[in-house]
Amino acid sequence: MTKLTAASMAVAIFAFAGCSAGQTQLSNSEQTRLDTPVQAERIANSVDAPRLLNAFDTPEEWLTHGFTYDEQRFSPLHQVNPDTVSQLGVAWTYDLKTNRGVEATPIIVDGVMYVTSSWSVVHALDARTGEELWVYDPEVDRAVGASACCDVVNRGVALWEGKVYVGVIDGRLEALDAATGDLVWSTVTVDQSKDYTITGAPRIVEGRVYIGNGGAEYPVRGYISAYDADTGELDWRFYTTPNPEKAPDGAVSDEAFETVGNVTWGDEGEWKNSGGGGTVWDSIIYDQVNDLLIFGVGNGSPWNRSVRDPSGGDNLFLSSIVAVKPDTGEYVWHFQTTPGDNWDYTATQSLILADIEIEGAERRVVMQAPKNGFFYVLDAATGEFISGNNYVPQNWTSGLDDEGRPIEIAEARYGNEPYLQFPGPLGGHNWHPMAFNPELELVYIPAQEIPLNYQNDLRYMSRPVKWNTGMDFSAATPVEPNQAVFDFLRAGLKGRLLAWDPKTQDVRWSHEHNNAWNGGVLTTGGGLVFQGQLEGRFSAYDAATGDMLWEYDVKSGVASGPGTYELDGDQYVTITTGWGSAYALAAGGFAYDEVVPPMVGRVVTFKLGASGSIPDPDLPEILREPQAEDFGNEETLQTGLIAYARACSVCHGGLAMSSGVLPDLRWSPFTSSEAAWRSVVLEGSLRSQGMVSFADVLSEDEAEAIRAYVVKQAHIGTQLKQK
Ligand code: CA
Repeated sequence: MTKLTAASMAVAIFAFAGCSAGQTQLSNSEQTRLDTPVQAERIANSVDAPRLLNAFDTPEEWLTHGFTYDEQRFSPLHQVNPDTVSQLGVAWTYDLKTNRGVEATPIIVDGVMYVTSSWSVVHALDARTGEELWVYDPEVDRAVGASACCDVVNRGVALWEGKVYVGVIDGRLEALDAATGDLVWSTVTVDQSKDYTITGAPRIVEGRVYIGNGGAEYPVRGYISAYDADTGELDWRFYTTPNPEKAPDGAVSDEAFETVGNVTWGDEGEWKNSGGGGTVWDSIIYDQVNDLLIFGVGNGSPWNRSVRDPSGGDNLFLSSIVAVKPDTGEYVWHFQTTPGDNWDYTATQSLILADIEIEGAERRVVMQAPKNGFFYVLDAATGEFISGNNYVPQNWTSGLDDEGRPIEIAEARYGNEPYLQFPGPLGGHNWHPMAFNPELELVYIPAQEIPLNYQNDLRYMSRPVKWNTGMDFSAATPVEPNQAVFDFLRAGLKGRLLAWDPKTQDVRWSHEHNNAWNGGVLTTGGGLVFQGQLEGRFSAYDAATGDMLWEYDVKSGVASGPGTYELDGDQYVTITTGWGSAYALAAGGFAYDEVVPPMVGRVVTFKLGASGSIPDPDLPEILREPQAEDFGNEETLQTGLIAYARACSVCHGGLAMSSGVLPDLRWSPFTSSEAAWRSVVLEGSLRSQGMVSFADVLSEDEAEAIRAYVVKQAHIGTQLKQK
């Protein structure tokens, strides 16, 4: 860790101790000192309740994850606008030193940017220059990567009274000194013997830090917790699935399960072993008008309800939006987007609060475009369904009923035959933050089409670890895919930026992209929408019309949401690059062609008139050559396909094609012999690099069959055109 000098720190702490309550006014002499690095300490100390509650009035900063507690990602800054945007140039870049996924929204407080990269590493930068002030690395055991469904990503930090809060991928919640990056406290928020992870940004209201976790592709039970920001002590916890015995947990969620939750679960089923899922892995917002904490709940574990809970119940609070009292965690309301989730249809996607006029009346609403393909407008105080409509093509329902409940079609409850469903488990919209422009009353959604064949896993077994969804990822996949299969899969992947009118529930404008899985969205008082794309373009659109006004090659795929701030009279626009995450791991091989650049973790910051440049990526050459002769009969290859799809595909890619984030196994030297393969797959010889042993879920025969399948794909792969 690089540090400020001890002397400057001592001065800073002495000078500003006791300044933690109330908004601080700066004297002239204090103002002068803003030019020294010490500002990180003094200003961070003043991030407090009044400042967060009024964040909209200080758009020169970006104080909390979604800009304000409403998380509209609408900044009123307007120096960059349709007339000036063509003058945007690179002010500075900062290398995050990672080629794993980067999903962070930077927080900017009085000249300091706090941003995270993969493996939960926190960087504090001078927001004017990108100069590094400090770096904090929580030094996560790389084996934890195998518990992360969707890459070892992190979506950012929260600030409160001189401390920076980060959720660590291994389940820790940590508080750092904002001036130095020194660890102040660390608490473990999960049972680390299970496959829990944290990728979401903490949120802070009145001295409580809220954090959930991920892991519902694995056997875990979800919850959200509130911790004391000063001490790291647990204040309350709200579970999102019942206690396995439907008994009280001694937690604040007990009453909600007694009254509405428990009856929606049967008394048999895998949920009793798995915990049922329902992880709160991303969106948590605070409604300061109604004094409610509102969070999104993830999918069921296992996904397949007929395995999870054969009684066929709705399974609260899976795939729900839940509101609780922020100080106690007491349940207030819920709205379930996908009753009886069967498809990994999380409701963890961006939640946005807004005041909009509906049928002549001003309503305070919460809006979401969850994975299931429907856009919802709910009353923020009560959770009442106001309206909904599908924002992407979907074929699992015939629409929503009057209460917003999906009217399922029978085929969607898949059985032993594949059903090609829209959306697939990656969703019509995933974690990529959406935005709302209150001046135009439009929501901007990074939407996508990534269908998937759903089918029962006929070999399902209860397992205490690793991916286990009850869904067969090899459904409808040939052992020997030809060019036509590849082209068909590739053609099914679409992405677009949608301007959605929440009052009419219809598309105002749509901009088609070349790929799925594009970046999050920012909208501004300058009448612009900013979004990065998988192909490495960062673009500005006219917020009203969708006309593309500016674009810039950022030399890496982009997935995160942009931010903006102002210093010395200049408006900056900033974006973290590095696309990684679930799509890159599981399906990115289909997208990775000559137009998709590799991922380079970086902060790229623009302002008008700047003329900097982005360094070219320095990439290793990958030799695309099979490392062994074809072997294995038809039966072995089929076994290999099924086992690969279940145990390997979600990290190393469907059809054994990797996007390059993790090794493409087709070209791996470890495929050259049974012994070499075995040492990695079953004996864990690459554990220190994150490839743990799979001996607990793969037999020796299955492991060798996977090698046969992968080698077969290598020979096929040299013939495929990935374009
Ligand atoms: Ca999931």
